[in-house]
Amino acid sequence: LSTNDSKNSTTHDKFLDGLLASGFDESTCLSRYQSHLYRKPSNHKPSPYLISKLRNYEEFHKRCGPNSRAYKISMQKITTPSSKTHHHHHHNDNVDAAKCKYLVWTPANGLGNRMISIAAAFLFAVLTDRVLLVRFEADMNGLFCEPFHGSTWILPKNSPFWNHENIETYQSVVLAKVDKARNLTLDQLLLPSVLFINLQHTKEDPEIFFHCDHNQEALKKVTVLIVQSDQYFVPSLFMTPSFSHDMNKMFPEKDAVFHHVGRYLFHPSNQAWGQISKFYDAYLAKADERIGLQIRVFRPTFTPQQAVMDLLLSCATSNKILPEVDTRNPAGTTASKVGRNNHTLKAVLVASLYPEYGENLRSMYLKGPTITGEVIRVYQPSHEEKQKFNDNVHNIKALVDMYLLSLCDVLVTSSLSTFGYVAQGFGGLKPWLLYGLVSNETHFPPCLRDLSPEPCYHFPPQHQCSGNPKEHFATSFPRMFECKDYYRGVKLG
Ligand code: GDP
Repeated sequence: LSTNDSKNSTTHDKFLDGLLASGFDESTCLSRYQSHLYRKPSNHKPSPYLISKLRNYEEFHKRCGPNSRAYKISMQKITTPSSKTHHHHHHNDNVDAAKCKYLVWTPANGLGNRMISIAAAFLFAVLTDRVLLVRFEADMNGLFCEPFHGSTWILPKNSPFWNHENIETYQSVVLAKVDKARNLTLDQLLLPSVLFINLQHTKEDPEIFFHCDHNQEALKKVTVLIVQSDQYFVPSLFMTPSFSHDMNKMFPEKDAVFHHVGRYLFHPSNQAWGQISKFYDAYLAKADERIGLQIRVFRPTFTPQQAVMDLLLSCATSNKILPEVDTRNPAGTTASKVGRNNHTLKAVLVASLYPEYGENLRSMYLKGPTITGEVIRVYQPSHEEKQKFNDNVHNIKALVDMYLLSLCDVLVTSSLSTFGYVAQGFGGLKPWLLYGLVSNETHFPPCLRDLSPEPCYHFPPQHQCSGNPKEHFATSFPRMFECKDYYRGVKLG
């Protein structure tokens, strides 16, 4: 950004090129309009079509969301079995409420999984004209600001949809009836007004044909759809014929979907933002370059820390992300000519559950000067030791780590980790993906440069809508690739 155009672009930056709406009270959510002071301007502009879809969605959310008359009427209609409620309201109210449909997002797994699946659920809601409501329990308290002006996205406490025990499922209703009895027309099919859909696939789960128009057509009739997911199922929205036109128009740049949607939806609360901005100002701001290292170990009892450390160092030094220490010359008296003139300060941000990674790296760089002369400082904001559930303070620390990683210039992430996906997506960074060690092995190459900042969709559809198996979907769609960290997964790039 040159000084000449910096003045003109201030407003643009603040609203992230029109991605964010104006009109919010800034003091209730400082991060919303301060993040641009911490992040380099994005290389990606949101399309005018995306911006108009977002502004329309915000209006719609206000009209049908919690606190609106339409919301009350819709909920009464669903929860009272008879149609008596029709008489209690004016005709117009009923007409409005009839247009309101809802998507209730339900959490599964850690914060990274939650954030990527909320982003996917939001796009699904936009495509299908549903209001997105998130089932945030106490463990999500104090993490995010409200994303939609003049309303809330939190499922109201008195909603009957906090549990879905007795609610019919997509698998039992739609798959069993629509798919098996193709000769039944949709009108002959009685669909419940509330339906639960589990999109939290694993390798073993059978195909659910969610990406198929005939099933999406059936879902249109359902007023409240409760979705449980930990997946970034955005690629499947591009695969669905009736959605693909809108998706392509909203996102002409396929590698920036989460980059836009994530920065649109997830604004750290003032509490989280205080921690992020203070840490950044104190340790990262004055560095010439910021290096983020995200070290996620999925099976810590089988994977020795030394093996992970060796892999990390091998990745960082062979790709010139970090310099080696000049061990032959601990006092640094005869540093190389290049080195003597190079006083570049690199700040390394380590995100890990374990304190040892930050400590090891820090003590390594205390042993002597680096062979390039660069000065390395190592910081690790937290070390929670293990993943904790039902703990919002723990989740805030996770958000702080993800956000700080996203403010780095260079990122090294761990294979398969959705925590890293969020950081790379926010930052629009193509990370270096560390090989996923499972035990004490050594591996070469230790890391690969990823092809895009998009999250990987780990369990994409395996069948065509006709029912025929498909080898790998990545090859049939433009800008869709096999993930480098998971052979089954697809990602946009
Ligand atoms: P994934 O399991 O790596 O895909 O990422 P998730 O975010 O879904 O789940 C991992 C959870 O473990 C996080 O949400 C945190 O609660 C915790 N966690 C893992 N790594 C870190 C880390 O580097 N820093 C912090 N603060 N928490 C972490």
